[in-house]
Amino acid sequence: MKLSNIAPVLPFLAFGCDASSASASAVSAGAFISTPTGTLKVTKAERCACKALVEKFQKEVIFPGEANYTEQTVDSYWDVRADLTPACVFVPETADAVAGAMKIINSCDAQFAVRGGGHMNYPGSNNIDGGVLVALSSLNSYTVHNDTIEVGPGLNWYEVYEALTPYGRAAIGGRMKTIGVPGLTLIGGFHYFNNKYGYAMDNVVSYDIVLGNGTQVTATKASHADLFWALKGGANNYGVVTKFTLKTYSVPKVTTTIQTYNETYFPQFIDAMCESAKVDEANPIAAGMIATISYNATTKAASASLLGVQEGASLPPSQFANFNKIPATERINNVTTMNLWSAELDSPKQMFRVMFSHKTMKPDSKTLFSIYQAWKAAVDEISDVEGLYPTMVLNEITPSSLRVAQTNGVGNVWGLEPEPLMIWQFSTGWALAQDDLRVEAWSRQLTEHLHSINQEKGLASEFVYMGDAGEWQDPFLGFPQENVERMREIRTAYDLDGVFSRLSWGGFKLGF
Ligand SMILES: Cc1cc2nc3c(=O)[nH]c(=O)nc-3n(C[C@H](O)[C@H](O)[C@H](O)COP(=O)(O)OP(=O)(O)OC[C@H]3O[C@@H](n4cnc5c(N)ncnc54)[C@H](O)[C@@H]3O)c2cc1C
Repeated sequence: MKLSNIAPVLPFLAFGCDASSASASAVSAGAFISTPTGTLKVTKAERCACKALVEKFQKEVIFPGEANYTEQTVDSYWDVRADLTPACVFVPETADAVAGAMKIINSCDAQFAVRGGGHMNYPGSNNIDGGVLVALSSLNSYTVHNDTIEVGPGLNWYEVYEALTPYGRAAIGGRMKTIGVPGLTLIGGFHYFNNKYGYAMDNVVSYDIVLGNGTQVTATKASHADLFWALKGGANNYGVVTKFTLKTYSVPKVTTTIQTYNETYFPQFIDAMCESAKVDEANPIAAGMIATISYNATTKAASASLLGVQEGASLPPSQFANFNKIPATERINNVTTMNLWSAELDSPKQMFRVMFSHKTMKPDSKTLFSIYQAWKAAVDEISDVEGLYPTMVLNEITPSSLRVAQTNGVGNVWGLEPEPLMIWQFSTGWALAQDDLRVEAWSRQLTEHLHSINQEKGLASEFVYMGDAGEWQDPFLGFPQENVERMREIRTAYDLDGVFSRLSWGGFKLGF
């Protein structure tokens, strides 16, 4: 079986952006630019920024209608909803260029957005209508050291794993091929090996960051320690990160398992997930999974899949013993390398519109199964939505994964106690813009309703992970209040002009 048959993807037609034909001079002169849904006027501040950028950087600036504009504003985005029409795109080739651009953007008071791998899936999180898009794709160099790797924000995780394979080492990053390094690392980072090494953010030893006034700072445990802490989960609230230095670990081989189950065995599947979340060993074998349930509202067919990865070569992989007991329609175990495994787990861009929604709870398998049943019944209610592609995803949070931050002398902004948790996420794909509001309302109401039942039962956690959240969710409400206050103080210290709250408003913002 090909992994792509299991991964939550849909063979949709790519969306063709029919946008813009404004030239550099037209944008600079204050023209309207055409977008797929109408026209928009470029503001004085945006004209100021685009004009100054092109004067200073020439070929690193792209205007609507020019070659590569569509590649930067459409083809680089995972979700069709994220395609927007910036007045100009800046593609810096050095950190100094990012610093120069931030000075210009700040002095012009122009709205802007920043894109790394382009996987955050809602409009405005990583793209912008009318403003400046800072696209980091050209900052894609890396340097491998003995037990760290320096990576630019233009790389995706497959490229990082590939760079490390000749050295028999692995970093803690994304589980699918084309997810970007920067977005995932700045929000936390669920990887297969969280149970042993913590989250991607816990494995960053240094951030090179350009602040809103164009100053370049290197934040480490010893230097700018407050900013170093705030970047561990603080998302895009502090600056543009131009280099991450990540810890690496000796992982020459991994053992993988692909398992699928029919609906009869969903209670056992969910129970095995809950038991896995509770495992709390002092020195665990690194292992984790992607766990997904798919339901087709037309055929009424449901199936669950486990994509598991464990460090080392051990067939069958010992850490999935609970799953191996469940009768499976397919079970394939293999010994391979991290880059070969992740090469197969593509998440192609521009396939569909997607709404994420999730909540977190204590791992209670009976309740989780009832959430599955409620979700399936609710999916039937929207079965007429064109191109509907609903999946339910489970992500475990093990106590050992949280203990890493508690014991490394740094911590992170999540501030979670080392107790087992389970994230239940609805990922809903659909085809047409006219269904955007309907799918969002459906997903939100269902999620909030089921969470309120968990709150009544005392099973709910208020933790919200930015990578699994819908745009209607506020992850900062789930962080300890003292952490949020400290994050705000650090933001004030490093971004006096409010560049990353006023001018870059997309993504998950800290608020005031
Ligand atoms: C198919 C799919 C699979 C996923 N799988 C996983 C997974 O296995 N594990 C996991 O933890 N998450 C996963 N996610 C969530 C993912 O981590 C987030 O969407 C993440 O933001 C993607 O990173 P990116 O660089 O591609 O993001 P982008 O969309 O480029 O950026 C995300 C946010 O970060 C900001 N940003 C980007 N680069 C920088 C920078 N250099 N400095 C400052 N801000 C910046 C952007 O402005 C934006 O607000 C998945 C998402 C999808 C759609």
